[in-house]
Amino acid sequence: MKTKISSDTALIRCAGYDSGNIQRAVQQAVDLLGGMHVFVKPGDRVLVKPNLLKARPPEAAVTTHPEVVRAVIRLVQTAGGIAMVGDSPGMGDLKKVAEKSGILDVVLEEGAELAEFDEAVQVKNNGRFQHFEVSKQAYDADVIINLPKLKTHGMTTLTGAVKNLFGCIPGKRKVQWHFNTGVNHDLFMRMLLELYLLLKPSLTIMDAVIGMEGNGPGSGDPRQIGAVLAGRDAVAIDAVSAKLVGVYPDRLPLIRAAEALDIGETKLDRITVLGNAIESMAVNTFRLPAQEHLEWKLPEWARRSLKNALTTKPVIDHGQCITCGVCQGHCPQGAIEVRNKKLVIDYRNCIRCFCCQEFCPQGAITVGKGWALTILP
Ligand code: SF4
Ligand code: SF4
Repeated sequence: MKTKISSDTALIRCAGYDSGNIQRAVQQAVDLLGGMHVFVKPGDRVLVKPNLLKARPPEAAVTTHPEVVRAVIRLVQTAGGIAMVGDSPGMGDLKKVAEKSGILDVVLEEGAELAEFDEAVQVKNNGRFQHFEVSKQAYDADVIINLPKLKTHGMTTLTGAVKNLFGCIPGKRKVQWHFNTGVNHDLFMRMLLELYLLLKPSLTIMDAVIGMEGNGPGSGDPRQIGAVLAGRDAVAIDAVSAKLVGVYPDRLPLIRAAEALDIGETKLDRITVLGNAIESMAVNTFRLPAQEHLEWKLPEWARRSLKNALTTKPVIDHGQCITCGVCQGHCPQGAIEVRNKKLVIDYRNCIRCFCCQEFCPQGAITVGKGWALTILP
């Protein structure tokens, strides 16, 4: 199933989000890959797919920065394409999230369209999963340009290029995928990779100017990284961006799954990095969520009995919780309930998808370690 696309990855230094800086960096990155006209032909309907997880202002670093979106819209339009900006936010409707994140203004100012993912199509898939229900707007686009933000994530350690396409699954159907793949996180990674192959984004441009560290992807801390990355191979971009923030790519479950399935390029020594060298831009002491699950490396019987000891888990800070119930609404397992006016997680039922942590508006849920992880070095 090896993708035959080039894994060349452009890595461009970019200090901040002022319009001139970003446009130069994005243009330079795309030019290193041959220029936007290689990806977009006159008249193409181009879906520009930022990360619009939830309604937060640009400085919170939850969503792709609006100036990155502006730079890409301009390049698409210059190449003769029709730019549509769309996503299916995990929380809230698209217009509200786009407005709060500053992206709606950019869409209107640049004469692009906001694409509501309000229609779904069932698409046959030749993989482990026989079909996907995806946004019609994404599936029908002539070209998809994927615009992820580099952030930490409770389940996948980092979230970036491949995972950003999960937003092309409309609305609550995303929760269903967590339910369907259950405790088997390898299966979830496989689903993400098969979805990536199905949607085939022509180009990925990653906003890693200010990323998110700590309790990401929804409640972590903004962190200066100073980079824009671009390439055709989203797996390679995830590998390069991981190394940039000090994470060996094979520590990431998504990269391990891509390696096992032979999807994209996972090995840094086989990726040509164009522009700046990774070492010259490396970020030190990037704070990750708690250590990843050791149970992934164990056989199924051991996973079940040692789950609580060897996995990370969502932990509620009752001092910060306002019992709004958002986490309950996003839990695919129904594992969160209110007891004595306090929220309680049933860890036997919890599949460690970290949707509750991702969507808690208060940042009241963090990633904690099972007892065995706390005594390991
Ligand atoms: S989403 Fe956060 S604040 Fe709301 S009930 Fe859950 S833990 Fe509490
Ligand atoms: S409690 Fe949180 S991590 Fe556990 S299944 Fe529910 S949403 Fe997922």
